[in-house]
Amino acid sequence: MSLNDRPGTFQRSPALWVLTVSMLFAAHEVQANGPQLEFVEVAPGIYLHLGKHEEMSVDNLGDIANIGFIVGTESVAVIDPGGSPQLGIAMRDAIRDLTGLPVSHVILTHIHPDHIFGGSAFADVEFIVAHRNFVRALAQRGDYYREGYSALFVDENMPTSLQPTMEVADKLRIDLGERRLIVRAHKTAHTDNDLSIFDSVTRTLWASDLIFAQRIPSLDGSLTGWLKAMDELAVLQADLVIPGHGRPGSWATVAEPQQRYLNLLLSETREMIARNARLSDAVDKVAAEESKSWILYDSHHRGNVTKAHTELEWE
Ligand SMILES: [Zn+2]
Repeated sequence: MSLNDRPGTFQRSPALWVLTVSMLFAAHEVQANGPQLEFVEVAPGIYLHLGKHEEMSVDNLGDIANIGFIVGTESVAVIDPGGSPQLGIAMRDAIRDLTGLPVSHVILTHIHPDHIFGGSAFADVEFIVAHRNFVRALAQRGDYYREGYSALFVDENMPTSLQPTMEVADKLRIDLGERRLIVRAHKTAHTDNDLSIFDSVTRTLWASDLIFAQRIPSLDGSLTGWLKAMDELAVLQADLVIPGHGRPGSWATVAEPQQRYLNLLLSETREMIARNARLSDAVDKVAAEESKSWILYDSHHRGNVTKAHTELEWE
C-alpha cells in the first residue's frame, strides 16, 4: 500500500499533508493520573508521538521529543522510549493496545535525556540498538543528566538508560517482517552518537534530532559535521521526514529551514572570527534574522553560536 492509497489520510501535497497532520495531532493529551500518549500513524505501520515545544521538566514528564514505533509482520521496533520512565510505560501500553506483536528492538537515536529516559519500560527487549559512541557518551554524561532530572525517576533504582546490545558503526539492517529498516550511524553532527532510520517500504526517514522543525536546532556535536550529515540524508530522497522535534513532512518543509539556519550560523560565525570580533558580540549578531523563525530561539541560539565559534576558530 502506498501513502496515496490510504483513504482520507495523507496526500503527497505538502500543504494538505501538514493540515491533515495538524488536525490529527490536536487530539494529543497527557492525563493527570498518568500519561496517556497519542500516537498517529503517519505512514503505514509507522506511529509517531509529537513532543511539546518546551524545555524538559517534571511537569511535562520529559514529553518534549518525537518518539514512536514501527510495526512489521513479525515484530515492532521502538524509536526512542521517551523522556521519563512514565512515558516509556505509556508507550509500551500504547503498543500493546495496537498490536499483539512483540517489541524486538529499541533504537536509541542518541544520548539526550528526552529521548532515552523511558528505557526501563523496555528492559526485557533483546536488541537495544545504539551508535557505537553511545556507551562512552552515557558514561560521560549519564550521571549529570540523571542528577538534573532525578525527580522524573519515581523509583531511584530505575536505570538512566538501557544498555545497548547492538552497536552501530556504519549501517545496520533490521528485519521486522516484510519491513526492513536501515539504521545509519553518522559521524559527529547533532551529537557524536546520532542514528537515523530509513524505512524502505514507505520511504520514510526517521531523522530524530539530526533534523529539528519549528523548534530551534541545538548544537551538541559539530556544525560542519551536521551540515554534512544533512547532505547525506537529503540523498535518500525520502517521501516523509520525521524530525526529532516538530512536525513531519517533506524534506523541503522539514529539513530545509534547518539547513538555512545552520549555513547562516556557519558563514556568519566564520566572518566574526575573521574580523576578530568578540564572542559576546557574535552571539547577538550571528544569524540574528533567524530569531522569528524558531520556537525557543532565545533558549538555545546563543549556545549554538558559542559552540560554533569554539569549533570554527581552530579551522
Ligand atoms: Zn538531541
